[in-house]
Amino acid sequence: MSDSAFDNAGFSTKAIHAGYDPDPQTGAVNVPIYTSSTFMQDGVGGMRNGYEYARTGNPTRAALEANIAAIEAGQFGRAFSSGMAATDCTLRTVLRPGDHLVIPNDAYGGTFRLIDKVFKHWGIEHSVAAVSDPDAVRAAMRPNTKLVWVETPTNPLLNIGDIAALADIAHESGAKLVVDNTFASPYLQQPITLGADIVLHSTTKYLGGHSDVVGGALVTNDEELHAGFGFLQNGAGAVPGPMDCYLTLRGIKTLAIRMERHSDNAEKIADFLVGHSAVSQVIYPGLESHPGHKVAEKQMRRFGGMLSVRLHGGADAARELCAGTKVFTLAESLGGVESLIEHPAAMTHASTEGSELEVPADLVRLSVGIEDIEDLLADLEQALG
Ligand code: PLP
Repeated sequence: MSDSAFDNAGFSTKAIHAGYDPDPQTGAVNVPIYTSSTFMQDGVGGMRNGYEYARTGNPTRAALEANIAAIEAGQFGRAFSSGMAATDCTLRTVLRPGDHLVIPNDAYGGTFRLIDKVFKHWGIEHSVAAVSDPDAVRAAMRPNTKLVWVETPTNPLLNIGDIAALADIAHESGAKLVVDNTFASPYLQQPITLGADIVLHSTTKYLGGHSDVVGGALVTNDEELHAGFGFLQNGAGAVPGPMDCYLTLRGIKTLAIRMERHSDNAEKIADFLVGHSAVSQVIYPGLESHPGHKVAEKQMRRFGGMLSVRLHGGADAARELCAGTKVFTLAESLGGVESLIEHPAAMTHASTEGSELEVPADLVRLSVGIEDIEDLLADLEQALG
């Protein structure tokens, strides 16, 4: 069945089927892992279905790219060897020396590091603004602003940006809006339908879903951006291998049911932590007390599996909690079936120390997995003491 046959299909139908038709020769229902680095030509320049060399294009990768585009409600997808490679490709495609971008005051530390430690030296300026405050983003725009970078929910403080409002602000100034949709996943939120020009993923997280593959992706409806991303895939070469593409596709098939369970578990953990005497603040967009709750409700299907807490006992208590859990594994990353716990100030966000993006030392981030909720609650209870 062609991809357009799934245009009106539900989310999981697209996630399971879009991007690949059963192989006509064998009927294989899963896309083969095409391990060929090169493709035979029928006479010089006579490529079959455009395949020439696997950095430029590979059928397993093409299936993943079409699939991610479909589940993000976009036209074009590109897959990369990591989320950071997708970030790098976006920055180099959209920006030129002398250009300016607006970045969130809370964002993945690696994104900030790349912009602040690498792109700054190539003449790219940036300003920091809270994505939860559209007026602050508007005030940060300059005549040379070409890109507005948004995470929502942000990593690790789970701030919520109103994607439609931010798209208007970017477009009024002729800038593009990129939304890093890693925390929400396309099951919970589809930024292109809300006006974003580019959606970015670390597919390492919820799309892969099993903490067994590193990857990234970009989705857009803009043909020029799509061509630019393809140029850099080939020109710079940060592409995923076919096995990684296959694993990511396999993960995506169960995204919807996983996100439902992640959200169920996180909601229950948020309620439990709100009542705990060791906890000074629970940050979860599903709580009515969260300042972004209303916007999240408007643009997200549910509130996801990421949750952060601040502790009365400060940095020491945060480190102790991270060291004290048994079901929650102390590790970086997020979005897998297993629950993870981490201390952002010392781990994922160490690169933000001393900057406007510095995170509080009493903060602990939880990636709530899909284990049995009773076990997760008991684990947190014993670790909090
Ligand atoms: N964006 C967000 C929100 C992330 O959390 C991460 C990684 O943690 C990235 C981008 C980078 O992705 P990767 O680790 O796949 O390079």
